[in-house]
Amino acid sequence: MNDLALETYLGHSKERILATLTDWLRIPSVSADPSRAGDVVASAEFCARLLREAGIPSVELLATGSADEPGSGRPAVYGEWLGAGKDAPTVLIYGHHDVQPVDPVDEWTSPPFEPAVVGDQLLARGSSDDKGQVLMQIEAVRGVLAERGRLPVNVKFLIEGEEEVGSPHLEDLLWRERDRLATDLIVVSDTTMEAADIPSTTVSMRGLVSFDVTLRTARSDLHSGIWGGTVPNAALLASRLAASLHDGDGRVTVPGFYDDVRELTEQEARSLAAIPFDEAKFCQQAGVAYLEGEAGRSPFQRTGARPTAEVVGIHSGYGGPDIKTIVPATANFKVAFRLVPDQRPEQVAEGFQQWLAAHVPAGVQVKAKPCGAVSPLLTPVDHPAMRILSSAIERVWGTEPLFSRGGGSGPEEALGRVLAAPLIFLGVALPDDNFHAPNESLDLRQLWRGILAAGELLVDLGSYRVVP
Ligand SMILES: [Zn+2]
Repeated sequence: MNDLALETYLGHSKERILATLTDWLRIPSVSADPSRAGDVVASAEFCARLLREAGIPSVELLATGSADEPGSGRPAVYGEWLGAGKDAPTVLIYGHHDVQPVDPVDEWTSPPFEPAVVGDQLLARGSSDDKGQVLMQIEAVRGVLAERGRLPVNVKFLIEGEEEVGSPHLEDLLWRERDRLATDLIVVSDTTMEAADIPSTTVSMRGLVSFDVTLRTARSDLHSGIWGGTVPNAALLASRLAASLHDGDGRVTVPGFYDDVRELTEQEARSLAAIPFDEAKFCQQAGVAYLEGEAGRSPFQRTGARPTAEVVGIHSGYGGPDIKTIVPATANFKVAFRLVPDQRPEQVAEGFQQWLAAHVPAGVQVKAKPCGAVSPLLTPVDHPAMRILSSAIERVWGTEPLFSRGGGSGPEEALGRVLAAPLIFLGVALPDDNFHAPNESLDLRQLWRGILAAGELLVDLGSYRVVP
């Protein structure tokens, strides 16, 4: 396998790349911590410098913020190399330079912002999520430019500074910069592979619809001795509602909930089934004793290819010490639905309102406040860009990648929707890299392979033609 585009480049660059990443990881760009705002800016400037050094001529920081407070957010970094010309495809690479908080800090084996190499692992907050993976993409561009003088595709980088706080200003930024960010394909590097020897790529992200439901059954709490046994109890009603969200087979009872769910294609079902699953380890990682869920579906289907309804909170009545003999008058329960293609948030929301109307007795005051909506996204496994990506991964890892389904809901949906372009995921982090947890790490062998694969992808995307 000596014909990989970046083999030679990588051979003499590893030390420099590791030193660069280490310097970047020393900047504590925690976006959730207002006292670290200056560090997030420093991290953005560091990233901008890396892009310039890679040979990208046009780089700038993009301020973010709300309409009434422009610039109040944390900056993204934008860079573009458009030397391939108008007729060549354009690829936008997305990642983020902000990191998660480090608590609980005493569980770290080395300080989170003092990167340490232990064997093949680079330990530091942000090593795999996501600075290491962003640097992987920057180095691939740098390598191809250094080796060949040009890229076969135009490349744009958008490196966000607020991903770890839920990308509050990303969509505004995308709309504002839509013309400049215009692209034929989006490549995201912020995900994991199943294992170092089981390469895989994510093909989807789930959508999300959630509700904050408040119930009132009486004017105020009532004496349980005087009224109990005859008046409605808000705590009991909320519990009944929560319990009736699923039937005996673990299926969601909201009307029409499964109507638009796209079944897995045979190829995808086969690929998903080929991902090894160790139930005992899975339970141990989650700290649970057993698994639940929709009957007849594997855990990987349940977490990625099937929609779910989760009761995320239920509160009612007296929660203080000992006891208070009341019939609670109010209750609150919150439910979050994860959606899969081709479910639409507004349709699920409507179904849930109908469900509530059918399940809440007349005369009970009920308020269901929607808390945001995100659509699911999916790039089919037979999409031309997916085939190019698979082949790049296969050449580096020596095995065809499996296709996994992402269970979460990230900024990718907004990227794909606003920029109207398909997304593919080249993510090389591993499940035990401790994303968002103490002792976050990056497997350096994955970083090196990732740079090679990102280089293959860049070169091969020259033949990519936009599919409407
Ligand atoms: Zn991330």
